[in-house]
Formats: sequence, C-alpha cells, structure tokens
Amino acid sequence: MARTQIIAGNWKMFKTIPEAQAFTQELIGSADFSGVEVVLCPPFPALWPVAQAVSGTPVRVAAQNLFWEDQGAYTGEVSAPMLREAGCRYVVIGHSERRQYFGETDETVNRKVKAALRHGLTPIVCVGERLAEREAGETFKVVERQVNSAFEGVEEAAAAGAVIAYEPVWAIGTGRTASPEDAQAVNSFIRGVFGGLYSPAAAERVRIQYGGSVTPENAASLLAQPDIDGALVGGASLKAASFVAIIDAARRVQTAR
Ligand code: PEP
Repeated sequence: MARTQIIAGNWKMFKTIPEAQAFTQELIGSADFSGVEVVLCPPFPALWPVAQAVSGTPVRVAAQNLFWEDQGAYTGEVSAPMLREAGCRYVVIGHSERRQYFGETDETVNRKVKAALRHGLTPIVCVGERLAEREAGETFKVVERQVNSAFEGVEEAAAAGAVIAYEPVWAIGTGRTASPEDAQAVNSFIRGVFGGLYSPAAAERVRIQYGGSVTPENAASLLAQPDIDGALVGGASLKAASFVAIIDAARRVQTAR
C-alpha cells in the first residue's frame, strides 16, 4: 500500500494566537486535504487554539518540542501528556535549530522519542547533516548515526508508525534546496538503515519527509521521488497560499502513486 504523503508546517517562533487562528481559518477554507495528511506545528501558546480551530477537519497539530519527563520541577519545559491534552497528535523532535541552539543531542532526541511514543504522540524525528559534514562526504554516516540513536530501544511497531524528516541543515531557511536526486538518495539510505534496525516491512511502512527550503515551485519534483513521503516546511508554511500550493503538489503526487 502506498504511504500517505504528510505535509507539516513548522511555524518555528512565528505567529501569535490570533495570527495562528486566522491562518488556520484561511487554510481550512481554501485547501483540499483529500488523500494527504496535513499537520500544523504552532508555537506552544497557539497549540490549543489551533487544535480547536481544526477540530472536525483532517488537519492535525504538532508541537515543535517536548521534554521527556511527564511532570516535575523542570521550569520552562512541556511534557508529552500536556501536549496530548492540548490537542497534539504529533511532535517534532531533534530539529536542527534545537540541536544547534538548545543543546539537543542524539541522546536527548532518543529520550524524547520514547516519551512521545509512551503517550501516543507520533514523533517527527529530524535528521540531517551540516554543510561541513556534507562537504566532508559524511552525509550518510551522520544520518545513519542519528537514525540509529533516535530509535535505540524503541519497539518495531511504534517505530514504524513514526515519521522521519531528512533535513540537510544547510538547506533550512537558506533558499538552497537539496536536488530531488540527492534528497531521494538520502531518504532511500535512511529507509535502508531503518530496515536494518527493524525489518523490510517496517522500512516499507515508515514515512520519510524531506525538509529544507521547500516551496510551491520545487515541491512537486521533490515529493515525486519514491522515498520522499512528504515535506517538513518552514518558511513557506507561514502563508496559507504557499502552504496550500505545497499540499496540492502532494495531492497530485499521491494520486499518481
Ligand atoms: C524547517 O523549519 O524545518 C524548515 C525546513 O525550514 P525552511 O522550509 O524554511 O527551510
């Protein structure tokens, strides 16, 4: 069975609650969600308002981060049960901006993946090489390490339902996109690593997105690649029109599969 394309909009630290609500109304009023899965990733304060706004629609909500403990004296952190209560079904884990600015490591990513799964949140696990690593020919080595570590100690059934986002760091927010062929090569490699960790069936099932300067112009050629099952979109997810255009591209690819 064909994997369902999943288009997620990572708003990063953009949009107030009223802005998030206005965007969501515009999206619901203008997009056709048939055949694809659409996820919005607002900042924490807008999670619940956006979850309410999408209630009764196929759109799902993701947090951009979580902490691995369920509760406790961890000032400034938010747990998986809290995110579930706030209406989340997904959570982005290990985004390169969190690895770069907030000390996220392969080990903390693994703890967060386990916490998410323990509480019924689907992790969107971000992996990807930095520019210097790509130039040193280390892309495959880096993503292999990140995937192996993220899923260490995770059971096959739970892992296969997760989403992996391949996001080359040099492509995030830079306007520089991986070519469809390069992105396909890494996504296919990640699927192989996942198959080695679990089984061919799990590899066939797990969804692997591409992220990094995805736009309405380049989405179709990226999403048409056989091992690219959707996109994690930053900048182009902030305007409803460009996000809808990417959803449309995914719908066309899905129909053709
Ligand atoms: C992201 O935030 O995950 C991302 C890929 O950003 P952008 O689309 O702006 O490169």
